[in-house]
Amino acid sequence: MKTILIIGNGMVSYKFCEKLVASGKSDHFKIIVFGEEPRRAYDRVHLSEFYAGKSADDLSLSSSEWYVENKIELHTSELVTEINRAQKTIQTHRGQQFSYDYLVLATGSSAFVPPIEGVEKEGVFVYRTIEDLEAIATYAKKIQLAGKSSATVLGGGLLGLEAANAVKELGLDAHVVEFAPRLMPRQLDQGGSDMLQETIEKLGLQIHLSKQTSFIQGTNAIEGLQYVDGSELKTDMLVISAGIRPRDELAKECGLETGLRGGVIVDHTMKTSDNDIYAIGEVALYNNMIYGLVAPGYEMADIAVSQILGESDKVMSEAIDMSTQLKLIGTEVASFGDALYEGEDADAIVYENKRKGIYKRINVSKDGTLLLGGILVGDSSDYNALFQLYNTAMKLPEDPEDLILGNRSGDGSSLLGNVLDLPEDAQICSCENVNKGSICSSIENGSCQNLGDVIDLTRAGTGCGGCKPMVKDLVEATLKSLGKEVKDTICEHFEYNRQELYSLIKVKNYRSFDTIIDAIGQGDGCETCKPLVASILASLYADTANEEVVIQDSNDRFLANIQRNGTYSVVPRIAAGEITPEKLIVLGEIGKKYNLYTKITGGQRIDFFGARLDQLPMIWKELIAHGFESGHAYGKSLRTVKSCVGSTWCRYGMDESVSFAIELEERYKGLRSPHKLKGGVSGCIRECAEARGKDFGVIAVEGGWNLYVCGNGGATPKHALLLAEQIDNATVISYLDRFLMFYIRTAAPLERTAKWLDKLEGGIDYLKQVVVEDSLGIALELEEEMKTLVNNFQCEWKQAVEDEEMMKRFKHFVNSDDKDDNLVFVPLRDQKMPQHWQ
Ligand SMILES: Cc1cc2nc3c(=O)[nH]c(=O)nc-3n(C[C@H](O)[C@H](O)[C@H](O)COP(=O)(O)OP(=O)(O)OC[C@H]3O[C@@H](n4cnc5c(N)ncnc54)[C@H](O)[C@@H]3O)c2cc1C
Ligand code: SF4
Ligand code: SF4
Repeated sequence: MKTILIIGNGMVSYKFCEKLVASGKSDHFKIIVFGEEPRRAYDRVHLSEFYAGKSADDLSLSSSEWYVENKIELHTSELVTEINRAQKTIQTHRGQQFSYDYLVLATGSSAFVPPIEGVEKEGVFVYRTIEDLEAIATYAKKIQLAGKSSATVLGGGLLGLEAANAVKELGLDAHVVEFAPRLMPRQLDQGGSDMLQETIEKLGLQIHLSKQTSFIQGTNAIEGLQYVDGSELKTDMLVISAGIRPRDELAKECGLETGLRGGVIVDHTMKTSDNDIYAIGEVALYNNMIYGLVAPGYEMADIAVSQILGESDKVMSEAIDMSTQLKLIGTEVASFGDALYEGEDADAIVYENKRKGIYKRINVSKDGTLLLGGILVGDSSDYNALFQLYNTAMKLPEDPEDLILGNRSGDGSSLLGNVLDLPEDAQICSCENVNKGSICSSIENGSCQNLGDVIDLTRAGTGCGGCKPMVKDLVEATLKSLGKEVKDTICEHFEYNRQELYSLIKVKNYRSFDTIIDAIGQGDGCETCKPLVASILASLYADTANEEVVIQDSNDRFLANIQRNGTYSVVPRIAAGEITPEKLIVLGEIGKKYNLYTKITGGQRIDFFGARLDQLPMIWKELIAHGFESGHAYGKSLRTVKSCVGSTWCRYGMDESVSFAIELEERYKGLRSPHKLKGGVSGCIRECAEARGKDFGVIAVEGGWNLYVCGNGGATPKHALLLAEQIDNATVISYLDRFLMFYIRTAAPLERTAKWLDKLEGGIDYLKQVVVEDSLGIALELEEEMKTLVNNFQCEWKQAVEDEEMMKRFKHFVNSDDKDDNLVFVPLRDQKMPQHWQ
């Protein structure tokens, strides 16, 4: 049996092993993998998610059993120190020697650290491994405790911006220093860079362009950057993201051919200058290039496996696609093909919308028929489609500018055509090298029934994830072409839409996320399905956000809305805006005691801003002791029922709007729903409470109340529509119970009532039939469901402050009681506000 030794256990090494296993011939070989890092291969592409709470295990590309099950011997924390080509052996730092028949170099690359004076100082990091991220987080905490807050990333490329966003998420003031006069100089032109800069500066990143660093200031630890032009930037830590350098040291020492600027030279079979040694991934120099992306690395792994298995006709593509999308920065950025093309045989078409922060550029051939490349900033929703037009060299529409301006013909058709018109060999997922044909045929031949099946079978979308929208479109179009039902499913973990999932959970009486995903889902769940299931459980069983904290969205997790400087707001319920002077004094005292900025909200209550995470429980304990409750300002749930003073005080008032608003707010408080809910009650048609701008509005008229539903303020205002006229209090409540429960049962995730009604076939007339005339025969059931929720209401802040275990999450630092002392406020009128970025 021949032995394959693989040096390096990164993403490409893992892909090599996976492909070998998938070939069904892995048991013909003895396979041994050496990795210098202390863990199994993990997803470096999604490394930044480590700061969003993903553990090393979550990022792992395989289970711990996978290597054992597939008889692959994995040595972690073991550095290979020498290759002896004559004897065909390798040596590790533990002094062990192993022989090979085939050797695969998958040693990747390391972060390039430019030789700037002072780079060895404390507080200077790179951003490549889980250990790097741990070290950065620890140092960030250290400087924060010392009252410092500035972190700089050297390098404004793809990775630098991702790293800058990550340090910002750690609560630091993030700066980006770039040598070139623009951001992402390899992917963006000046216009795209300007737009990106404007957008991310608004998000709190500070950008310094055309700056060359001459040395790093500070005695032991970094204190600042000195630039060549004489200016400086004070900073408390530095993350270097100035490019990569292939780990070719072993190859050089054993005499393999390497490039002038590094990298092990390989041919189109991935063979190095030694016939028995292959190089793949970021260490391989192919076509005189090191590709710092995972997709070419995966293709190389595939080729190397085929070559070792004797399939010598499978070779590496000539042209490597370098299209990229920037992740996690708070805006969308993508570039593809020849994004910066300036030649005479092409025209650039540019669309710029500064108001919306959108910049789009496409480069088309002079005759307007071919797409050569493009840039998308601020809106990359057309990326996949444009990429296909470019990649498959499809003929462009007559007016290629429509590709970025949108279809102006008014017939609603897509200018990018039907996805099914793409050629069969159009590559959809470049990371996993999956083409359109494989995706569509997996549905057509019955192997797959839905998106989840297709992802499982083909692995499309499991790399960087950028192609997922296109995979979804293809799956849906194929299903439709076969006359099969296309479901608006939640995500790849559940093959149901929200309404179906709601019904299933209810019918089966499921009570926890794990039970649900095990029984009717697949995988581990994601940021889409977890909060959605949490919301459904709350809508069905009055579960509070304290139950299953890990599946809640971030505001629900801390029972507070996070604000722009990382502090939180506190909003106690003041039903219908009515409050006694005594309670007002209590609020004033608490605001003073914790030095909180205080403002009256549009929903007639009082909002405190500037509370630290560790202060939240203390503040809430005091509020609860004085009879306040959570105002659920953070939840997708009922916020307020606004009221005018009505007949209690107003000369025009036809009924007691305050009393009724209080009754409604008390009834529906804490009601979790697909989106936030607001209500209003006005004492007459003068409408001082603006009730028709709410999800439900009640207006006193001659002979009772008029009930309006599905109104909306916000970005797309909509007046609520009349559901019933001149009805009494009890009828308003029973109609509202039915309406709200029907909405909760049937709306899509994050769909406000106005949009839900727009999509409801039959519109308001149908809704009247269901709610008023009980056409579906479910009125009683809906009312009963609401009654259960009303009876089981608990104030979740009260629940939290009374439970030691639940309180643990309100610490700024995990494993430490330290406070976040990094917050800087400046005076504002007679109060304070967060310091602006400088
Ligand atoms: C933060 C971040 C975000 C990224 N985002 C994207 C993205 O969005 N899209 C994209 O396409 N790419 C992205 N990349 C790049 C992508 O992660 C790399 O292209 C890919 O991981 C390269 O895989 P590799 O296996 O070649 O190398 P590596 O992942 O570097 O793995 C090589 C492994 O070999 C080990 N090793 C080296 N020498 C030895 C030795 N002598 N003995 C034993 N072990 C050794 C190393 O310790 C390392 O674990 C990103 C990278 C980072 C760091
Ligand atoms: S809506 Fe009518 S009752 Fe209410 S305050 Fe205005 S005028 Fe008075
Ligand atoms: S309108 Fe709302 S979201 Fe916009 S700035 Fe004001 S508070 Fe923030």
